[in-house]
Amino acid sequence: MAVPTQTNVSTLIDQYSALFFDSFGVLIDGVDALPGAVDLITRMNDEGTNYFVVTNDASVSLESRVKTFASKGFDIPQDRIINSGSQITGYFTENKVQDAPTVVLGTQDAMDYTTTAGGRLIELGGTEEPDVVVVGHSGPHDWESTLEKLLELFSRRFQQNNPVRLVLPNPDFIYPNGPGNFGFGAAAFVNLLEQALERLHGSHESLLATKLGKPYEPIFAAAVERAGTNHAVMIGDQLETDILGANRVGIDSAVVTTGISRRISPDEFEDVADELTPRYILASLV
Ligand SMILES: [Mg+2]
Repeated sequence: MAVPTQTNVSTLIDQYSALFFDSFGVLIDGVDALPGAVDLITRMNDEGTNYFVVTNDASVSLESRVKTFASKGFDIPQDRIINSGSQITGYFTENKVQDAPTVVLGTQDAMDYTTTAGGRLIELGGTEEPDVVVVGHSGPHDWESTLEKLLELFSRRFQQNNPVRLVLPNPDFIYPNGPGNFGFGAAAFVNLLEQALERLHGSHESLLATKLGKPYEPIFAAAVERAGTNHAVMIGDQLETDILGANRVGIDSAVVTTGISRRISPDEFEDVADELTPRYILASLV
């Protein structure tokens, strides 16, 4: 059984060729910077540390994210942010669906990521049917009626041997929304749709969403490519996204105890599966 060890961020900086940081729960709590985070980023900028923010965000543009970080005191250059919204481009290229009629459920920025990737945006329920549906953000939708429309569409097109592609850039099921508050992520709604489709048609790969963010491989592959090394450590707060994803792609990981995970000592990981167990525990970024 894997057992994590306590460490601190300075040790990780010395030990690894690159550091990947989750955003929510590690650098910020949804409202403010977390203790030590601004000083750490400043120090890494000054020392030329090879670091990147690897975040499941797909709802705002990289430009706006840089500004949001700046408003909380962070100087994080845009090329140091790798988000799941940006992975939409790779999806459209690899699957050769540029110019496909595409529905985006999400913000204007989620739509912009998709048009940049080559998708041709249409409305759900219009005369033309989508070949791709990108679920970019959890709101603002009437989710019950939206899901019923999607269920009819995906079910019928599956039976017609012409399945619609379902794309989930941000696989977070829940997200921290300020101290003690949580919201349902887009993945919660996609999961409902996938389960309903499985009940109707059984288990089929084409009825599952392609997931681009953590814990899935595309965003980690992009981070490793940008960093120029896989001798990296992923620092995150969610075992099911940050830690599982890092373990899957074979990079080391550290869990911070400032976000969703409340486990703060190695013995609290005894009942945790190896694939969800980090190599390290960080009490804070200080
Ligand atoms: Mg997080």
